[in-house]
Amino acid sequence: MTYNSFAQDNLRFKIVRGKTDTVNSRSHFIIGVAPLGAEIFINGMKVKQYSTGSFGTQMMLQDGVNPVEIKVYSGSEEMTDSFSVFYKQSSLQEVRDVPFFKYPVVVTKKGAYLNSSPGGDRLGGAKMNFLSEGIKMELLGVEGNLYKVKLSDNRSAYLPRYYADLLPVGEMPAFSVSSSWSVVNSGKYDKVRIALENRQPYIIYRNPQPNQLVVEIHGTVNNSNWITQYRNLKSIDYVHLNQISSDVLQVVIGLKEKFSWGYNVDYVGNGLEISIKNTPEVLYSRSKRPFAGLTIGLDAGHGGTSSGAVSPSGIKEKDLNLDMVMSLKELIESNGGKVVLSRSEDIDVSMQERVDIFRNANIDIMVSVHCNAGGNPLQPMGTSTYYRHIEYRPLAKGILDRLMELNVGEFGLIGNFNFSLNAPTDFPTVLVETLFMSSLPDEELLASPEFRRDMMEKVAAGLEDYIGDVRESLK
Ligand SMILES: [Zn+2]
Repeated sequence: MTYNSFAQDNLRFKIVRGKTDTVNSRSHFIIGVAPLGAEIFINGMKVKQYSTGSFGTQMMLQDGVNPVEIKVYSGSEEMTDSFSVFYKQSSLQEVRDVPFFKYPVVVTKKGAYLNSSPGGDRLGGAKMNFLSEGIKMELLGVEGNLYKVKLSDNRSAYLPRYYADLLPVGEMPAFSVSSSWSVVNSGKYDKVRIALENRQPYIIYRNPQPNQLVVEIHGTVNNSNWITQYRNLKSIDYVHLNQISSDVLQVVIGLKEKFSWGYNVDYVGNGLEISIKNTPEVLYSRSKRPFAGLTIGLDAGHGGTSSGAVSPSGIKEKDLNLDMVMSLKELIESNGGKVVLSRSEDIDVSMQERVDIFRNANIDIMVSVHCNAGGNPLQPMGTSTYYRHIEYRPLAKGILDRLMELNVGEFGLIGNFNFSLNAPTDFPTVLVETLFMSSLPDEELLASPEFRRDMMEKVAAGLEDYIGDVRESLK
């Protein structure tokens, strides 16, 4: 397979970026694609053409009208495109309209999650955690498509309006007195179950040092004086509780193992159940095949009507992602692992469907493969890996370390990243943004099937390192 098979049609001369009427930034990129072997001039200056056919330049704009003329000589053909770009300094203005209504109480629906702020960047406000359905909270206000809800006397948060229903006037927010607890091993999971009178909102966070999972149950007072902990628990070392304010009960779960395999918090009836996944049994025994007995979820970003980023020469991110995921699958399977794919062809799969596929398959680790976009199109932008939950930092770092053995730039290790597939806590997740589609030097590397394969070998090596570290920690 060559990169040409990814480009939609035969390369023709076309400007793909920079033909903008009015801009507020002096630095302006013109990016285009032309038949291979063409000579290209932008405002009389010859520019480099990459082996993909892409070319580009950076202009510093003058105030007002900036004429741009591009001439392409290809064989006996001469092609011209000219346009102008108007530069004007931006007048800083922030328009924020914050309607404020007062409703009594909302109740959460399936898929609800909390944000700590109303948010503003392209990925939305910082996510706190998912929340079960059927939780009633007092409504403090409405901001855009978010409800501001009261968790307890001194704590509020934001909840997407889509994931909550308004209740009729007269409904009360929930309040509970906690009663019996149980802490048991149920095979693949260790479980803490706390009986409450109603479904209360909760906040979850991880402490890496000491290794703890902390769940704050809001609108709740403690009346539990008895916590039975069995000796056959695998991941849970101890469970402890603190009444940290008049209506917040904090549950501290001390964890035995250095590496985490995921957890889930949900209501069963009115009992809050915290399930912590135990280390896969297979990792306690020696194995020559690194991935034997493990199920790895692989996610090829985008697909179908979602192309992802499109490179200057017309390569679509969705095609590269799938191609790379297929080689990663082969590498993992040849090392004994089982692979579950979120898609194996060019089709639309929603984020929720992807999460459901992985949850239902009970995967042990998930890797999502994407290509990045943005930044300077004329510079190599580099590779990066992303995690959302602190406990998966070592996984993301291990893969980045291996990728950096290739001759590519470093875009970095990015934490607290608000990507939907990094959000589930059910299993370790990492997002790999291989290289930038929008960078001409990166695009040239991504266009090479051999280089894509090299990148996936590094991802597989990073996973193998991680599994090796887990085994080491269990000795
Ligand atoms: Zn993408």
